[in-house]
Amino acid sequence: MESRDLETIRSLPGNDVCFDCGVNDTQWASLSFGTLFCIDCSGKHRALGVHIDFVRSLTLDSWTPEQVIVMKAGGNLKCARAFRSNRIPMAVTEGGGRNSLENNLNDFQERYQHKGAKAYHQKLLQDAAASSPSTGTETERNSGERPDGFSSPTLAQKEEIYELARLDPGLPWHAPIPPVAMKLILLAFRILFGVPVLPLILIFCVARYVLYPENAMLQGLGYLLAGIPLVGSLLFGRKLCRDFVDGRIPPFKSAQNLLAQRMEDRRAIRTRGYDVFLPPPKTKEDGDSERTIGLIFYPGWLINHTAYATVAAKLSDAGILVVVLSMEPFRASVSSTQVETARYLRVMYELLSDVAPDHPVSEWAVGGHAVGAHLAMKIAKATSPGTSRLVVWGCCSRPIEHRSASLADNTKLEVLVLNGSEDKSINQLSFSQRTDFHNLLPGSTIYRTIPGGNHNGFGHYEKHKNRKKDGVRTITLDEQQQIAIHETVQFLEGKMPPQPLPAANPPTKNSSSKKNE
Ligand SMILES: [Zn+2]
Repeated sequence: MESRDLETIRSLPGNDVCFDCGVNDTQWASLSFGTLFCIDCSGKHRALGVHIDFVRSLTLDSWTPEQVIVMKAGGNLKCARAFRSNRIPMAVTEGGGRNSLENNLNDFQERYQHKGAKAYHQKLLQDAAASSPSTGTETERNSGERPDGFSSPTLAQKEEIYELARLDPGLPWHAPIPPVAMKLILLAFRILFGVPVLPLILIFCVARYVLYPENAMLQGLGYLLAGIPLVGSLLFGRKLCRDFVDGRIPPFKSAQNLLAQRMEDRRAIRTRGYDVFLPPPKTKEDGDSERTIGLIFYPGWLINHTAYATVAAKLSDAGILVVVLSMEPFRASVSSTQVETARYLRVMYELLSDVAPDHPVSEWAVGGHAVGAHLAMKIAKATSPGTSRLVVWGCCSRPIEHRSASLADNTKLEVLVLNGSEDKSINQLSFSQRTDFHNLLPGSTIYRTIPGGNHNGFGHYEKHKNRKKDGVRTITLDEQQQIAIHETVQFLEGKMPPQPLPAANPPTKNSSSKKNE
């Protein structure tokens, strides 16, 4: 840090003494709160973790211009006043003296994890952004490459971006219900379905046997029989529990990092319900005639939607605006068609009006992976003819409520079904099951196969170890996704000729002759 900046920061009101304990030593700084403090207190600040408090040494660490701006926008007195007005307990009084607070790590946690402290952190970032000379070097540096006038995010914004993109998939940040309630639901789920009830029933039967020896056999048998449905539902419940609680599939770190990178470059936006991947800003040569296609995409069963950041980002590079919907908190793409359609329309509206007004979408497509594709089929039906194209990845089975997804009569809708040749979840389907699926789709549907591709190769996620249905890929993940992206872009841009229905397994004369007319 330049000595001039250091002097300015040191001279801010209250910055002469430690913010937390009041001693006359301020070598350390919190970028999160714009405060200075002593070396003893710096240890406690660090102990809070960087997600709460980002600590730097005024003299030992290097500082970026953005960090200096944040510190200049802060100051101990400013922060103390904000904290006091929020009744956050402080050890230093307004006059600089000490009060009776012990000021240990617990007090620090209480102080800095307080709602008011978080609000102050936000306000500090806003103040810093407002005070930063936006016409400075950064805009100049960017003006050549970014015709849309975006400037690079500040460091403080970058930290937020990365935190947002790396959100623990288990955290119900996306959940419409509070985190505590979410935990309680999952706990109730575990207790309800996780307790092995079979032994309990056996103990009960034994008790009856002992208590009523005269009817023992019959009574015991009666209870055992009565218990069978109960046990059955419990075993099913345990499976459900295993799926919903333990089977949640996290994304690869690389996908999270890519999302963060895109957010930093203003090519992606994460909102509470979905991630948006924006096409590159249009150059003047493109003109206004170029239409933008929007693809709204549903993730697969139990898969964190961040896992699709990689394919979505690459699709957006090809000029498609991609929205990956979050299925949190349960990640089950089986919600009611009406509810989901309402959400789908709301997402469209938000995109056009608030989230990405600079990218007016002229044509909408809906897509999905695996079970997500089932939902996409229902949405395509419900929003026809508004949705003009449907993209189905890694899916060849009909949804449970197949009536709400039947698109066979829909002549206006264009459909692409793209599957990996090694996808076991599809290869194990019987001929009649495949026919059922094909019968749900319009006759003009285009079927494509990725040679060597498998089921989980459409996303960047950690495969559940017990899952065998994905099949083994004989090409790399990157290769599979490149093909998937190429085929999908061709299809969305209307450059793909219709294809005859592929021969199903086992190949029969019926299927090939019928479509080759
Ligand atoms: Zn101190």
